[in-house]
Amino acid sequence: MGKVLVIGAGGVSSVAVHKMAMNPDIFSDIHLASRTVSKCEAIAASVLERTGIEVRTYAIDADNVAATSALIEEIGPELVVNLALPYQDLAIMDACLATGVNYLDTANYEPRDVAKFEYHWQWDYQDRFKAAGLTALLGSGFDPGVTSVFAMWLKKHKLRTIRLLDILDCNGGDHGQAFATNFNPEINIREVTAPARHWEKIGEENGQFVETPAMGVKQSFDFEGVGPKTMYMMYHEELESLARFVPELERARFWMTFGDAYIQHLTVLQNVGMTRIDPVLYNGVEIIPLQFLKAVLPEPASLGPTTKGKTNIGDIATGEALDGSGEKTFYIKNICDHEEAYAETGNQAVSYTTGVPAMIGAAMLMSGAWKGEGVFNIEQFDPDPFMAMLNEQGLPWTVEELPAPLAF
Ligand code: NDP
Repeated sequence: MGKVLVIGAGGVSSVAVHKMAMNPDIFSDIHLASRTVSKCEAIAASVLERTGIEVRTYAIDADNVAATSALIEEIGPELVVNLALPYQDLAIMDACLATGVNYLDTANYEPRDVAKFEYHWQWDYQDRFKAAGLTALLGSGFDPGVTSVFAMWLKKHKLRTIRLLDILDCNGGDHGQAFATNFNPEINIREVTAPARHWEKIGEENGQFVETPAMGVKQSFDFEGVGPKTMYMMYHEELESLARFVPELERARFWMTFGDAYIQHLTVLQNVGMTRIDPVLYNGVEIIPLQFLKAVLPEPASLGPTTKGKTNIGDIATGEALDGSGEKTFYIKNICDHEEAYAETGNQAVSYTTGVPAMIGAAMLMSGAWKGEGVFNIEQFDPDPFMAMLNEQGLPWTVEELPAPLAF
């Protein structure tokens, strides 16, 4: 048996479901549910055309725990893969506990009314998943996801300790639109307008998060396959789990590239109040400006046909070499081509680089390669079988030694 239920029908889900259908030995029975059933049907039609595999579709509001539990009971999957939005994480975890089914997601829970990315809400489910003998795998996308697995692979094969870690996320793709986001605009804009935070140990003190203004620290970096780009230091959720599972870290930072046009548009939208997440009264109706903005921006899934260029995402880690040869620095990364991703699954590379690791994480649990009772971040499992599947499933990676740690 290999029955899986995927919830959510955006770009990430589309890629994950296509890739599951391409691995029928692991995923023999695929079910897809989301709020708008027509989006599930469109994915199922594309999967059927490309692979000949049938996907069953359903309408569900995953905020409704009772309805989701009933759907899970009806289908009887081994695993629920949550590719809806971070707001649904806790409700879907509750439904999994109610029905005795394993859980996986790619983004940590966020309350709707505060732009806060913290694992504690989901880590609080540890005892309940453990008592039920179930596994919850958190953060099985690219970042979080592959970037954490990259760090753990370096710790297993190259470095005894990681002292400095930088995660560099570059999207060198051009979608031809004046302004659009490559994944859910509401989540994307909440993330980039939040203050930056990085992990740092100062002197003998315990490590702590140091906060700086949003987009306040930037750096130029020459990305292979893309060229020089300006990247901005941001907070990203894997910093929290990496600081916990790589306790020797002295500094961990996350960087993401943005073009000048993106920054200009975002600055104006922020200045005029369009990125606010508190309700405003308009003609007697409460609306949330950021949700209205999402409704007028292009759907990320619609950017696929026009996006050209590459993504380049990886980790640069410095620490004591495993072989006792002193301090070493390694750069481990994947480069993904937007047009190749689109040709394979009908989705651009940002959805592809998230959907493929979601499928691989699901494969790890369904095949029994990763086992455990409780709530796990992806760092806690053996990186090797996951890294092997990345190479086989469209996200090949390379590792190289750099002559010195990053100079900034
Ligand atoms: P989209 O907005 O394209 O898709 C989200 C889907 O979830 C939509 O089909 C939406 O339905 C559905 N949905 C929303 N609310 C509900 C609900 N209450 N019940 C059922 N379905 C619901 O997002 P993406 O595909 O771009 O992203 C999906 C997830 O992946 C997000 O959580 C995002 O944060 C995460 N992500 C993770 C990355 C990583 O590297 N770890 C990178 C990129 C994204 P509808 O169509 O009706 O709105």
